[in-house]
Amino acid sequence: MITNIGVFEILRTRDRIRKIMKNCRKNSAEQKRLPVASDAPLFRELRIAHFDQKPRARLTVFLRGKGCSWAEKTGGCTFCGFWSATNMGGVMASEDFLEQIRNGLSNLSVREAEAWELAIYNDGSLLDESELPFHTLIEMIQIAKSLHGFRRLVLECKASDVSDSKVSRLVKHLGERELLLAMGYESSNPLVRDLCINKGFTEGAFNRAIEILRSHNAIATALVIVKPPFLTDDEALVEVVSSIQQLDKLGLHRIDLEITTIQEFTLVELLWKKGLFQAPSRVFLERMLSAIVQLAHRTTVFVSPTKYSPELLDKPTDEVHDLIDCLNLGKGLPEPFYIRPPDYLANGSLNDVELIRRINEYLNIVEGVKSTSSLFRINGHFVADQVSLDVKVSNS
Ligand code: SF4
Repeated sequence: MITNIGVFEILRTRDRIRKIMKNCRKNSAEQKRLPVASDAPLFRELRIAHFDQKPRARLTVFLRGKGCSWAEKTGGCTFCGFWSATNMGGVMASEDFLEQIRNGLSNLSVREAEAWELAIYNDGSLLDESELPFHTLIEMIQIAKSLHGFRRLVLECKASDVSDSKVSRLVKHLGERELLLAMGYESSNPLVRDLCINKGFTEGAFNRAIEILRSHNAIATALVIVKPPFLTDDEALVEVVSSIQQLDKLGLHRIDLEITTIQEFTLVELLWKKGLFQAPSRVFLERMLSAIVQLAHRTTVFVSPTKYSPELLDKPTDEVHDLIDCLNLGKGLPEPFYIRPPDYLANGSLNDVELIRRINEYLNIVEGVKSTSSLFRINGHFVADQVSLDVKVSNS
């Protein structure tokens, strides 16, 4: 239960996080700015994984985009360093995007040319018209269709950018080929999504996007972040399990687990430098896989490889990659691996008051602020800074 003072604290904490993230993006632009406009994609890659219970090849073209508008507006997600791999807000001509697709799909190897899925990413949202005009996206798809025989097109986007008219036009242009939208969901806990991740959409917006896709016979993958900042291992395990359970009700094509890595110019990096964040360990991942194996769910769960992250500061070991491959390729679980009891449940339930207090304490350390707490709870109510206030309980 969050009181009015609690709401005030959430807004204040959100402002602090966004200020830090905007600063990270500014530093990134000062130190990492790439040449503006380019007709070549960042890179392309062929990946084999088990989709639809079969080994399938996916060819991914990573476009050099203008940059995520959410990052531009609010600083963006606390773990995401992709801003550094974009034009960081610098406008790009439509013709550049069209050239990127032409170049990205030229000189393909036989295996690349036979890939079942074609994925296009722009390190942002392809359905956000401030990043890419919609008519340019349609033109890109027409070019892709003329150069590649893919059966399914995967586009990354934000759920809040999905509209009936856009999906309807995409499906029409794809004809017999299937449309899959990959959308960040991150966490089923609104406070974690808001403050630990700085993601700004509601559960309703996500559900609406899924409904729109379903009504056009298109499908969706939801991305869930594994171990976002400010959570203990046990809390992070509960978050992953709860998010899978929540998403399992939506009949998605797949749930992609994205492991938090230490990426340059992010709040996660700042916390890591102060010893306030550690990337998920092998033991953590074993516990997570064990929890997933024991969970009754019908949606396929896939763990995304971490190597796509730009400028990884704390590189996951080969052991971690092996573990991920085991799940994704359906090889079974490695030794030593034990089905563990869900021991995280005892200590993993999140206390909103404690979480907001912890976040502010960590932010104080990151910002070098002396005070260690501005939020107290007296008789079950929030009060700010030792000033006793008559708080009214809200329904938030
Ligand atoms: S995770 Fe997606 S929405 Fe968040 S900042 Fe990165 S590109 Fe933008």
